[in-house]
Amino acid sequence: MRVSMIGTGYVGLVTGVGLAELGHHVVCVDSDQEKIDTIRRGEVPFFEPGLEPLLQRTLGERLDATTDLRRAVLETELSLIAVGTPSRDDGAIDLSSVEAVARQVGEALRDKAAYHVVVVKSTVVPGTTEDVVLPLLEQTTGKRAGPDFGLGMNPEFLTEGEAVQDFLFPDRLVLGAIDERTHQTLDALYAGLPRVERMRTTPRTAEMIKYASNALLATLISFSNEVGNLCAALGKEEGGVDVAEVMQGLHLSKYLRHSLPDGSAITAPLAAFLWPGCGFGGSCLPKDVKAIIARGRRAGVPMPLLDAVIGINERQPRQILTLLHRHYPSLQGVRVAVLGLAFRPDTNDMRESPAIPIIHDLLAQGAELTAYDPAANAEARRLFGNGRLRVCDDLPEAVRDVDAVVLVTRWDEFRRLPELLRRGERQPVVIDGRRMLDKASVPRYEGIGL
Ligand code: NAD
Repeated sequence: MRVSMIGTGYVGLVTGVGLAELGHHVVCVDSDQEKIDTIRRGEVPFFEPGLEPLLQRTLGERLDATTDLRRAVLETELSLIAVGTPSRDDGAIDLSSVEAVARQVGEALRDKAAYHVVVVKSTVVPGTTEDVVLPLLEQTTGKRAGPDFGLGMNPEFLTEGEAVQDFLFPDRLVLGAIDERTHQTLDALYAGLPRVERMRTTPRTAEMIKYASNALLATLISFSNEVGNLCAALGKEEGGVDVAEVMQGLHLSKYLRHSLPDGSAITAPLAAFLWPGCGFGGSCLPKDVKAIIARGRRAGVPMPLLDAVIGINERQPRQILTLLHRHYPSLQGVRVAVLGLAFRPDTNDMRESPAIPIIHDLLAQGAELTAYDPAANAEARRLFGNGRLRVCDDLPEAVRDVDAVVLVTRWDEFRRLPELLRRGERQPVVIDGRRMLDKASVPRYEGIGL
């Protein structure tokens, strides 16, 4: 099939390259000329393991990239929209990019006689595809949705850092469509993934499935953090409770762990979200939970549970400062290394990363900061400049002669921290914001929920 993929960010480029890998002819479209030039050189404009070799393999064969949206739409049978859907100041979804693209696609389709299918892949609140995109397409094309063009909604569930695997081996395909013909086109699009569980539904339900999925993950994380904060407070009383042990106990539940006849067991990946930390970030969970709360508000339905999920998450990075204050009541002149800047490992994406409020708070209290991330250093320099935050090129340099180390992102590389610190003369206090180190592995250990 000939496919135009509009918006070539994390989702669009992975999907475009993935569809080309499955045998489709794909044109990636973006309004950002620099991004398109980068892709045409065979380079991925962001950090995503495994994507560049696939891009280079398909580029020029079945994959092309352009800023010419009109031509891309005219020369293809199906257009996927994967532009950003950020938060507005009030938390509601900002649909301006989706609307702009819908208009542009419609203007191109006005001059195309053949049937065409438009599919929304961006995360959009329930009702967007049918109540916003559909009327825009009908107005600009002068045609009717259904007989003249197809319309679908196919939410994306990939995780940055694991995106290539997630495309090639997805857990599910949620295929929302306004009619049977669009459904058949979506089936043909994913014919190369025959064993994946498919769910055929309406665009509105497909949209809601995406929000319910992200809201569930965010809820589990905030739940874990709320439990962890109580554990930390109980520790001040007699005995002490460690949230890591508590969560390990939860993971043994029959709802999260399946025992096999040979005595081994499989733990559900969902258990990973039942773990304490310094909060969730990224371009999806915070904005999506806020967007669905705002959608609820518009429908006259308050969502107090999700309000609390966001509230807990916004307060959580401060736990790091609380732990530091146990050792340094004043942070003025205290040398602190912040390890991990990306919102999760295996990405350079710093959008809504908990590292950002932590760094701002530390700087505001007069700490002297070094920072290091295996992939997001350049992004951090862009965000913070290289003034009061000294971004270091490697881990040893970042932790040299510091008073405290703050672990913000669960990168595997940071597991060597205890060994690295053992070689140094000073023993900084280590604040484990992800509970990823053994608490006995460093002499001065503090962890969230301990
Ligand atoms: P992104 O910001 O990385 O990419 C969006 C791209 O769209 C940019 O390259 C931008 O230049 C381009 N764009 C914007 N307006 C355009 C226009 N008018 N014409 C052409 N191109 C235009 O965003 P992303 O992270 O890929 O997310 C895209 C959507 O997918 C969002 O709705 C997001 O919520 C959703 N999503 C993201 C992830 C993720 O992990 N990043 C996962 C699932 C779903």
